[in-house]
Amino acid sequence: MQIIKSFVCGGWHEGKGTPIAVFNPATEEKIGEIRAGDTDMKAVLAYARSRGVPALSSMTFGERGELLKAVAVALHAKRDELLDLSIRCAGTPRGDAKFDVDGAIGTLTAYASWGIALGSRRWLLDGEIETLGRSPRFSGRHVLMPRRGVAVHINAFNFPAWNMMEKAACALLAGAPVIEKPGTPTAMLAARICEIIVEAGCLPDGAWQFIVGPTGDLLDHLDEQDSLAFTGSSGTAAILRGHPNLVRRNVRVNMEADSLNTAILFPDVDPESPTFAMYVSNVALDITQKSGQKCTAVRRIVVPADRVGVVRERLVAALSEVKVGDPSDSAVRVGPLASASQLADVRAGIARLAASCETAVGGAAPVAPTGYFVAPTLFVAPSPETSVVHEHEVFGPVATIVPFDGSVAEASRIVALGKGALVTSIYTNDAAVALAATAEIAPWTGRVWIGSDRMAEQQLPPGMVLPASIHGGPGRAGGGEELGGLRGLAFHLQRTAVQGFKGVLEGFAPDAPAS
Ligand code: NAP
Repeated sequence: MQIIKSFVCGGWHEGKGTPIAVFNPATEEKIGEIRAGDTDMKAVLAYARSRGVPALSSMTFGERGELLKAVAVALHAKRDELLDLSIRCAGTPRGDAKFDVDGAIGTLTAYASWGIALGSRRWLLDGEIETLGRSPRFSGRHVLMPRRGVAVHINAFNFPAWNMMEKAACALLAGAPVIEKPGTPTAMLAARICEIIVEAGCLPDGAWQFIVGPTGDLLDHLDEQDSLAFTGSSGTAAILRGHPNLVRRNVRVNMEADSLNTAILFPDVDPESPTFAMYVSNVALDITQKSGQKCTAVRRIVVPADRVGVVRERLVAALSEVKVGDPSDSAVRVGPLASASQLADVRAGIARLAASCETAVGGAAPVAPTGYFVAPTLFVAPSPETSVVHEHEVFGPVATIVPFDGSVAEASRIVALGKGALVTSIYTNDAAVALAATAEIAPWTGRVWIGSDRMAEQQLPPGMVLPASIHGGPGRAGGGEELGGLRGLAFHLQRTAVQGFKGVLEGFAPDAPAS
């Protein structure tokens, strides 16, 4: 049994707090324990401010890009070990483990290359110089400068590798030292990644700290230059958003929370077309991948009323083929949920849906004598007005077919009933429908993914978060925004308007000596 330690103030800290056990979710065997709870959070912040901030802020974007590259290389060298650990501590079949671990390495690599391309720059520019006075002699421009604060990251259990490193990539490249707190059920994988980073000496002293277990009074001591980026449930997001110190000191906050993502099939899509096949295969993937514990997974399968039968039939066929069980078995596609409490939540969610919808396949019945398994489960709602479908995110292999009248207006109304989403996928070969639907849906969703015959062969599915596109969404989804290439750095930078003589402002140009 392993004791999962924090890495703070330059050393490993075991803690003396009340033990919290972590389990192999496939066998329910206890595999680790967290004993934190007595970490001196003021000291952790002081360490980041006194060591990490000066070290990172003295570097150029290019130099910080090299740091990310070193982290990516170090993790890649231990990739197989990380995949095995993911199978054991997170219950992920190997394909799902790769989704997490390779996603982390890929995102780090992307940000490393964007940083290295910025070379010797120490700030970013936003727009051009604009004349403010009677002549260009008095002008203005906007610059984005690294702040002098600490980036606190509180992450969910479902992507212990990717979630931790996608946030860290943006913060470190922007010059902010990171204090990472992973979700407890899968903290063992996050801790091993932390160990690899520390052992490889990739980052300057104080640039990277790692806290397992409760955050104690950490948030009480954040100040005006610091930030908090959170991923998790909307309930926790609401608590953290209202934290008195964060409110009082205007600490920057970014929230990534729940989402009832929608996949809309428009009536022009023929059941024998590539787009229809893509629809079924992407929805089935979202239900099964990571056992549905994916913030971008589709929960509402919106289908014209006269196509419900064929979509249901094909999805049931696809889901029935999927093997659920021991994630170390290479034939298994769906492993267990990550923890006993997730299992209880998902079973309760299935019961809620079952009370108002027809069960097409699956359900809450136990799949195996041990382990936190749930069978892929598909419901069919009687109508778009079935409110439970739009209210509760069941964070497991569960989704519901919702019939609609095939119109853009009805599809958009259904999307809005979810009160804010991370991703909405629309499937149509009619470009006018795609544009009209996007215009209506975009205010309610952070990403619109458009599937058609023209891109079917080259598609990356809508559930995949790519570093070049923003990740986040309005309302229930947290109202946050991460990634999106260099846009992801803005959260850690201060946008400042600089006004004065144009000749001075030109000194901020990318090729000016100081920049
Ligand atoms: P959660 O219970 O809200 O926990 C998220 C993180 O917050 C964990 O690290 C948790 O620590 C920590 N936490 C909980 N209460 C806290 C408090 N009072 N103060 C400080 N930290 C606190 O969510 P989860 O069950 O881990 O994750 C599942 C949820 O995350 C789902 O609803 C899913 O939709 C959402 N999610 C969203 C995204 C996105 O990008 N939008 C991505 C992934 C997941 P402990 O684990 O130690 O309790």
